Amino acid sequence: MTQDKTGSAYKIIDHMYDTVVVGAGGSGLRATMGSAEAGLKTACITKVFPTRSHTVAAQGGIAASLKNNTPDHWTWHMYDTVKGSDWLGDQDAIEYMVREAPDAILELEHAGMPFSRNEDGTIYQRPFGGHMQNMGEGPPVQRTCAAADRTGHAMLHTLYQQSLKYAADFFIEYFAIDLIMDGGKCVGVIALCLDDGSIHRFRSQAVVLATGGYGRSYFTATSAHTCTGDGAGMVLRAGLPLQDMEFVQFHPTGIYGAGVLITEGARGEGGYLTNSEGERFMERYAPSAKDLASRDVVSRSMALEIREGRGVGPNKDHIYLHLDHIDPKVLAQRLPGITESGKIFAGVDLTRQPLPVVPTVHYNMGGIPTNYHGEVMTIGADGNPETVVPGLFAVGEAACVSVHGANRLGSNSLTDLVVFGRATGHRLKEMVKPGAAQPELPKDSADLALTRLDHFRYADGSTPTAEIRKEMQQNMSAHAAVFRTEQLMAEGKTAMAETYKKMQDIKVSDRGLIWNSDLVETMELDNLIGAATVTLHGAHAREESRGAHAHEDFPDRNDAEWMKHTAAWFNGWGGKGGEVRLDYRPVHEYTLTDDAEYIKPKKRVY
Ligand SMILES: Cc1cc2nc3c(=O)[nH]c(=O)nc-3n(C[C@H](O)[C@H](O)[C@H](O)COP(=O)(O)OP(=O)(O)OC[C@H]3O[C@@H](n4cnc5c(N)ncnc54)[C@H](O)[C@@H]3O)c2cc1C
Repeated sequence: MTQDKTGSAYKIIDHMYDTVVVGAGGSGLRATMGSAEAGLKTACITKVFPTRSHTVAAQGGIAASLKNNTPDHWTWHMYDTVKGSDWLGDQDAIEYMVREAPDAILELEHAGMPFSRNEDGTIYQRPFGGHMQNMGEGPPVQRTCAAADRTGHAMLHTLYQQSLKYAADFFIEYFAIDLIMDGGKCVGVIALCLDDGSIHRFRSQAVVLATGGYGRSYFTATSAHTCTGDGAGMVLRAGLPLQDMEFVQFHPTGIYGAGVLITEGARGEGGYLTNSEGERFMERYAPSAKDLASRDVVSRSMALEIREGRGVGPNKDHIYLHLDHIDPKVLAQRLPGITESGKIFAGVDLTRQPLPVVPTVHYNMGGIPTNYHGEVMTIGADGNPETVVPGLFAVGEAACVSVHGANRLGSNSLTDLVVFGRATGHRLKEMVKPGAAQPELPKDSADLALTRLDHFRYADGSTPTAEIRKEMQQNMSAHAAVFRTEQLMAEGKTAMAETYKKMQDIKVSDRGLIWNSDLVETMELDNLIGAATVTLHGAHAREESRGAHAHEDFPDRNDAEWMKHTAAWFNGWGGKGGEVRLDYRPVHEYTLTDDAEYIKPKKRVY
């Protein structure tokens, strides 16, 4: 299929690389840098300019047990991450992450990342939710390394500069459409150059998906509009599963109405929440960690306060965050960005007034299943739950290693990006031979991508993309939110199946190929809706409450039956097919080395 509907041919430009990375956020850039540094011919494809990736918006910081501001130990970080994950995280991968984290941070420091400093010149670390001293016993630990409240911005610029230093080729404003698979192996990727409409076929020994999360499947999210789960969509269409998609994190403090994030660092610096009675209600729900309990706990407590009639505002549908008791000088120095956001998005002067906030979709714990080397895994035909997919890697929010399990701790995502971006670089160095000959691509290598592109380009149904997208987002916000019930999720599955069918009647108005945002948004919607559908199915099937998945009909965690990862397949695109298949793989109940002790499940209280 190299002709379009009008009979003119799609011209394909061919490229050959050792490694192709899709995505230039923190994880993609770190993997790009590692691959190029290892002497591999590396391309990085990105739909937005690298420093506009969502990582740029990360505010609060990046966790590592550097012990600059309080005592700390990697075993404490490991304990908190396992507990935060509600025992769904794989403990070998978690051990790997927390032990590598300090080195990964020092590497960033040496690369020039402008961290905030302590008096003695060491990196400033702040408290963050769920991070404690003494194996969870407390008090809170200061573990989150910060560059004021613009940590992701600083990190992304540092990593982009470093990637340019090595000889990686950047394909900026190229939209990856689909993977090229050959007999179960990934051998490349097809992309559209947004600027001139040319089609590019990348042949490579390894493809790394670093495409970020799919927050935009919900109506309100802190994520950028580019967070559309494109990697997830590509993986599903390649016949591979996604893992633990039912676990969606709501951040307690999105600005009411706008959804813009107020970092947890705000509570780390002393901020607290109140209800309509002026009560600091977190003291009731989490007597020891209070406002710094983990995100699922704080979000649920806020939702309960609102549900029981103690929300603030005319509709009693949000909560106040107070920072007005903090010295304005401290706010100006440590939280300048959110002071500005408060003014712009809520019209509030933080130094005098409380800020209206509400739990808002923020992060996807689920994603493309990988091991701690970044290699993508599937459940093989022989039942092996950890069958590696040759040639395919995934990192960052797009991936599920799984270190975050059922709930991610704040500031552990940036850690995940650099630690596993780096680990992937190491693995590529071991596996890929620079300049090795590559087999011919299969004859139909561009068929899937071009068939889809052409189909959507000429789609002349009656429902505009934006209408179907809104319906999908409303379904998700209504049926897969902070609290879930059997009935809600069952209705959500049915509603989503109907919305998906409407994709058959989609209408794209622009037939061009140059900067056709109508077409690109339609392909993004096609990616989002697959991810959204498996999220609802995984959630409906999981009859327990764990981490971010709060099932009101099954309020307790059920380790005997549910301490396992969900694997979900989805067949189809463009409104056709759409069946979901679920299977499960065991959680790693073991550590990486004998230095760490397996942390046994217990009740999770803060
Ligand atoms: C507002 C906000 C604040 C946050 N604050 C923190 C924090 O303080 N600490 C913390 O640890 N975590 C934080 N997080 C979470 C963390 O920032 C993200 O999980 C992380 O940055 C994701 O990085 P990534 O590399 O996986 O992807 P992203 O940074 O999302 O980048 C995705 C990349 O993939 C590319 N891409 C996607 N699809 C395609 C395609 N089809 N073709 C080509 N390119 C494509 C994009 O161009 C982009 O370069 C925050 C998140 C948000 C939304």
